[in-house]
Amino acid sequence: MAIERLSFEDIGKVNRATLGPDIPLSVFRLVRLIGMNKILGESAGPTLYMVGKDIGNGLDLTTVDDLAGLVQTLRIGIPKVLKSSDDTIVIRVLECMTCSGLPNIGEMFCNFEGGLITGALEKILKRPAKAVQTKSQSSGFDCCEFEISLF
Ligand SMILES: [Zn+2]
Repeated sequence: MAIERLSFEDIGKVNRATLGPDIPLSVFRLVRLIGMNKILGESAGPTLYMVGKDIGNGLDLTTVDDLAGLVQTLRIGIPKVLKSSDDTIVIRVLECMTCSGLPNIGEMFCNFEGGLITGALEKILKRPAKAVQTKSQSSGFDCCEFEISLF
């Protein structure tokens, strides 16, 4: 089986009797923030956005509440819809897996999270969408926020 054929269910199977299914968030961040930026440079952000969007498009979700529940169940963060109009949705994410607790370095890089939420919204709402991150704990805020434009 080629790696791209692994399903979401497949990758959730873990055979670690001693260590269990979880890892410290710092391990994820090591890959995400250090490794990917070192190898991909400035394309790391857009790449992760597209990865998130592709995954979001592939999720079997039908409502925004389902999306919010999944984001929290997977411990990506705690999302809340702040604004929802015909052409814009603003979503705040507390305890974001990528940026929560990081020092203010004046950059926002929760591209995966923004992509995942946007991809899922595209599927749920059946409209193309694009996210712009407007807040991040790594840029001095106490949360992450995404403004999603619907087209
Ligand atoms: Zn974040």
